[in-house]
Amino acid sequence: DLDHIDDINAYKEIRPLIDTIREQHSDIMENAQMRQEFTANVSHELKTPLTAISGYSELIENGMATDGDVRRFATEIHRNSNRLLTLINDIIRLSELDVTENAPSMERIDLCAVARSNVDMLMLSAEKHNVTLKFSGQPSYIMGNKMMMEELVYNLTDNAIRYNKPDGTVEVTVYSYEKDHSVVMKVKDTGIGIPEGHLGLVFQRFYRVDKSRSKSTGGTGLGLAIVKHIVAQHDAKLDITSEPNVGTEITITFQSR
Ligand code: ADP
Repeated sequence: DLDHIDDINAYKEIRPLIDTIREQHSDIMENAQMRQEFTANVSHELKTPLTAISGYSELIENGMATDGDVRRFATEIHRNSNRLLTLINDIIRLSELDVTENAPSMERIDLCAVARSNVDMLMLSAEKHNVTLKFSGQPSYIMGNKMMMEELVYNLTDNAIRYNKPDGTVEVTVYSYEKDHSVVMKVKDTGIGIPEGHLGLVFQRFYRVDKSRSKSTGGTGLGLAIVKHIVAQHDAKLDITSEPNVGTEITITFQSR
């Protein structure tokens, strides 16, 4: 009947609205779940070093440690405090990046110069890991936030060193391409690689392929989540290719300015 036809038409009109609300709702639900997971992860990650600090200091306080023990326990307390500091710094950094109203201040910068000086800072660490670290590039200008670019280069190069193999290499390059007005930064290593099934997941907060390797080399599981944020804030493109036991290559493409 006519009433029914009207209903259908009305339904057709409000259908897009219902879809939008449904979509938004599922976004909110997903966000709420992610936030809950993040909080649970943070608590867990903070508890581990704190429990160690509390345990070792209690043993010393109760006089249960011999002179030899005291030194060993102090080392553990120191190591776990540093771990806690690194974690807290990364967590604070992520929550700063989360506040999207604070658009980062952008300026025209030479990404090649920024990358070169940050790679230089990691030379000593590369030596310690028996890894050869190389840099090449030419002046390449982008609109970017200098501090974020420093973090970006640092996090990617630091990973490429830590997940490398003895006698491995890391190559960082920054070049600009006139034909498509792009600036491309690549960080390529000859390390342990990432199994295909994990490739899409390593950018999630606290996700690690091998938890013990990450922790023993001072990782927090937040470095690549920070990288992903920074890349998004710069409207850049991130590509990753990796082969277990061969190496990993991360490419970030910016608009040249
Ligand atoms: P982490 O602090 O554990 O290094 P990240 O967020 O930087 O955390 O990286 C997440 C995980 O991705 C790491 O735990 C590691 O398993 C993997 N990963 C990151 N970079 C590399 C790399 N260059 N080669 C192999 N695995 C990597």
